[in-house]
Amino acid sequence: MNFSDLAYPELERRDGAVHLLPLGATEPHGPHAPLATDTLISVGICRRAAERLRGELDVLVLPPVPYGVTRYGADFPGAVSISEETLRALVTEIAANFERVVLVNSHLEPDQVWTLRDLGLPLFDVTRRERAERLTDEFRAGAGHAGRYETSLVLADRPELVNRGRMAMLDAKMIDMPAAIRAGQTSFVAMGMDQAYAGAPAEATAEEGDQTFEALADMLVELIREVVR
Ligand SMILES: [Zn+2]
Repeated sequence: MNFSDLAYPELERRDGAVHLLPLGATEPHGPHAPLATDTLISVGICRRAAERLRGELDVLVLPPVPYGVTRYGADFPGAVSISEETLRALVTEIAANFERVVLVNSHLEPDQVWTLRDLGLPLFDVTRRERAERLTDEFRAGAGHAGRYETSLVLADRPELVNRGRMAMLDAKMIDMPAAIRAGQTSFVAMGMDQAYAGAPAEATAEEGDQTFEALADMLVELIREVVR
């Protein structure tokens, strides 16, 4: 299932396989969650979708792209940004190696999302209204950066990477990030996210993370079936 765990003979005669490309970022996610949060989330969705489709479709998960267009978090250590041009070239060139590719993105900064939408490749984009409506209240409220939603997902798959002591001390900051971005704010700090999170990380649980991963995997499975059809 993990493309790069295989040796090449295992990849012979698999021309019809669907290749999932997980896309993330290396960026601050509060004082409690890892820089790799978005990448871990994309990988977790891909892994679950591939497991669900076992026996129905040949699905392989490519190594993730752990860098994205990441400017909002530049006031904090840990934001490693690439340009739109670099992201476009990297993803386009990786995708050109395969007949069937689905991009799975969890880094939701608008410049990242718009760049990926423009590529003309199948894209799993949770910011689409019909998908967002199937996710948690906090996510739909636009406070989905390192809050309860994302922290729960990390707790489900990589709990050892969450600093629970710090997580428990964080006050809820119900900031509507899409609204702040529309109003012209260009950094987490300007949006009032003085510790690089929005939402309520202290309320995160692994159980919610498991449920959200199931909902995300359902939606990715639907998209993969559409792409193959
Ligand atoms: Zn994130």
